[in-house]
Amino acid sequence: MNYETTNPQTLAVHHGFGSDPTTGAVTVPIYQSAAFTFDNTEHAADLFALKQLGNIYTRIHNPTCDVLEQRIAAMEGGAAAMTTASGQSAVAFSVLNIAQAGDNIVSSTDLYGGSWNLFSNTLPTMGIEVRFVDPADPEAFRKAADDRTKAFFAETLPNPKLEAFPIAEVAAIGDELGVPLIVDNTAAPVICRPFDHGAHIIVYSATKYIGGHGTSIGGLIVDGGTFDWERHAERFPVLNQPDPSYHGAVWTEATKEMGPVAYIVKARCTLQRDLGAPMSPFNAFQFLQGLETLPIRMREHCRNAQVVADFLAGRKEVTRVIHPGHTEGEVRRRARSYLTGGFGGLVGFELAEGVEAGRQFIDNLSLAYHCANIGDARTLAIHPASTTHSQLTPDEQAATGVTPGYVRLAVGIEDVVDIIGDISQALDTVSSVKKAA
Ligand code: PLP
Repeated sequence: MNYETTNPQTLAVHHGFGSDPTTGAVTVPIYQSAAFTFDNTEHAADLFALKQLGNIYTRIHNPTCDVLEQRIAAMEGGAAAMTTASGQSAVAFSVLNIAQAGDNIVSSTDLYGGSWNLFSNTLPTMGIEVRFVDPADPEAFRKAADDRTKAFFAETLPNPKLEAFPIAEVAAIGDELGVPLIVDNTAAPVICRPFDHGAHIIVYSATKYIGGHGTSIGGLIVDGGTFDWERHAERFPVLNQPDPSYHGAVWTEATKEMGPVAYIVKARCTLQRDLGAPMSPFNAFQFLQGLETLPIRMREHCRNAQVVADFLAGRKEVTRVIHPGHTEGEVRRRARSYLTGGFGGLVGFELAEGVEAGRQFIDNLSLAYHCANIGDARTLAIHPASTTHSQLTPDEQAATGVTPGYVRLAVGIEDVVDIIGDISQALDTVSSVKKAA
């Protein structure tokens, strides 16, 4: 694209690709090739030595994935990005890129279950301690940190609580201490731009809103390029001392000519090389289609979710509505400060009659799908107490924000009249069962 713009809605359609130089194809081709030929031996050596960037092997880099990476980095106002096979591998790599055995990270307690498991069970087996703190108090991050802390980690809009994370407050503490803030922005693409608030690294499950149609699993890590790894060389030897796994490269020096991309280049050259979780080019193509309509879809998701939340607040079966638009005080202030493009597509609500009412509601939906996903064009619903959170004790469920009658809706982009119609008739069945009992 020759046209200069910083508008995410235009970047989502154009950035990183004009037309295919060989065929003139207007859409990004799927370069479904494991390997790429070198011009000659010197070219090959230069690519391996990072003297020149280019295509070697799809585990490390692929031209279809490259357009997606450039596009999302531009939309976020970041320096560069890397695609991964899943959101989960993006979360894992974002931490493993800078933390080693003996190190720790400080994480918000309010996390997606997969990240919670990674942090509380798998990373400790690798010698990486994860210290969980309540995001209600940003200072808790400072208190939990020490000189072996390599990152702060949080989700912008974690469910089931749906309380926006204090990005600027915790990023500022990170800047003071020399600790980068990694933000999982999966639930709030476009509506929140974490780098604008001081976050240093963004991760995504592209599976959700970026893909938008529930067809493919994938993830992204975006490097903001704003964290000064050299200034904090003592804390980050992995980026500032010779890496024996890459013929002694010092990542901050080896990438000097490329811009502030030491973090993401190291992730690509070491973690993708050694652990190998690349995005398939076909999935990158799917995500590129999704990305083009992401800003428009997010507007519809936000608008529909707000209507659904307001509708639920007026129903007698519902004791509480969980939605950023239905909050007060500091929680509301944070929602307004960080979710500047809208309050997102997720809505939670509690049914007074508990587990049975939750199951009854779900079983009687006829438009919405019952599944463990979010970010699809279709409205999706789940009853966490009997599914995703059923292995937890009632106390553990309560700590994560799941009550027996909690239902999560990932509101889609159907006509909101039909979404409300479906929810309304399913709620009617909850009331009629109660009356019959
Ligand atoms: N982060 C968040 C906030 C998620 O909701 C999910 C999945 O639900 C993930 C990460 C993991 O993503 P994936 O399923 O693409 O591995």
